Amino acid sequence: MTTHRVTLIPGDGTGPELTEATRRVLEAAAATSGSSFDWDVQQAGVDIMESAGTPLPPETLESIRQTKVAIKGPITTPIGTGFRSVNVALRAELELYACLRPCKTYPGVRSRFDAVDVVIVRENTEDLYAGIEYEHGTPEANGVIDYLNGLQKKQIRAGSGISIKPISEAGSERIIRYAFQYAKDNGRSRVHCIQKSNIMKFTDGLFLSVFREVAKDFPDIEPWENLVDATCMGLVQRPEEWDVLVLPNLYGDILSDLTAGMVGGLGVAPGANIGTDTAVFEATHGSAPKYKGQNKVNPTAMILSGKLMLAHLGEEAAAERLEAAVAAVIAEGKSVTYDMKPTRTDPSAVGTAEYADAIIEKLGAAK
Ligand code: NAD
Repeated sequence: MTTHRVTLIPGDGTGPELTEATRRVLEAAAATSGSSFDWDVQQAGVDIMESAGTPLPPETLESIRQTKVAIKGPITTPIGTGFRSVNVALRAELELYACLRPCKTYPGVRSRFDAVDVVIVRENTEDLYAGIEYEHGTPEANGVIDYLNGLQKKQIRAGSGISIKPISEAGSERIIRYAFQYAKDNGRSRVHCIQKSNIMKFTDGLFLSVFREVAKDFPDIEPWENLVDATCMGLVQRPEEWDVLVLPNLYGDILSDLTAGMVGGLGVAPGANIGTDTAVFEATHGSAPKYKGQNKVNPTAMILSGKLMLAHLGEEAAAERLEAAVAAVIAEGKSVTYDMKPTRTDPSAVGTAEYADAIIEKLGAAK
């Protein structure tokens, strides 16, 4: 019997109730393979901020460094407190360079699309999100403009704000290699490199040239090159054509919301942030604080993030059984949360905990 030690972070807002539902479902799924969890429960978010003086206590970070695997509920980003987002801090501190977001339509989920089964692999550390910016009118911005205007004929207008877009060869290779390896390990046939290299030759162009090199190491995976604008159109016109998409940070952020919308929205969109030796699993959505404590919101996204975690831990069979149980409960449409019912006021909707119970019952039957 394998016991997996995992850091469990309930988060805040609706995080704790989503996490509790997910914990119970994960234990039931692992049990179908004779495995179990040894949870190291750690706090982060606005609820712990007052007593700990920080929304990300050092012991929470230390726990993830030790266990190397965490699953977390959503966390509110406190506004106007001087604290940075816990989610951003975790990614930076643990160098979680890959953001993985599989988006798949499950029959029964309300969506305008069917046959969507794409995986977004987003670079998490570079690009316009590197945080290198100069506010318009400041001496720093003016200095950057003067310097750049001295380098070329094309002139930047005075009074411009400047955001820098760094894309490195090493950062590109790391994420692109991850995407190809993911495709190989998960029986996928294609990796699409999404970029705008016709316009940004030295950043997106570099990303594309690294893609062409890395693709040579994966002869069984078909490499596709797609411009980001054409990708937006192609995804909604022919969703079935797309497979694993690797993207620089900004395009990845935007397209992962697009594909989440195509499969039924935030309530069903799972995610993972992966580093060289550490991984943090979490839903795409935020803490939905207006529903806090109401046993109302949909835990599917966090439960499916847990499915990704099971696969990461080598529990592929349990992961597959969990996904099948979730799909079966959604397809039946009886014991689902309000957002998965035909109308949002449907009186037959069940709560977060009861939806988890229905999945656990299916897992029991699958044993
Ligand atoms: P949100 O995702 O919390 O909510 C957006 C909308 O989606 C709301 O209408 C909400 O009710 C609904 N929704 C979200 N999750 C749902 C679920 N599981 N089931 C049913 N409906 C659901 O986004 P927001 O309101 O912009 O952000 C709230 C807080 O969460 C902010 O402080 C934000 O910074 C934070 N946030 C955290 C994370 C994270 O922890 N990874 C991610 C995004 C936002």
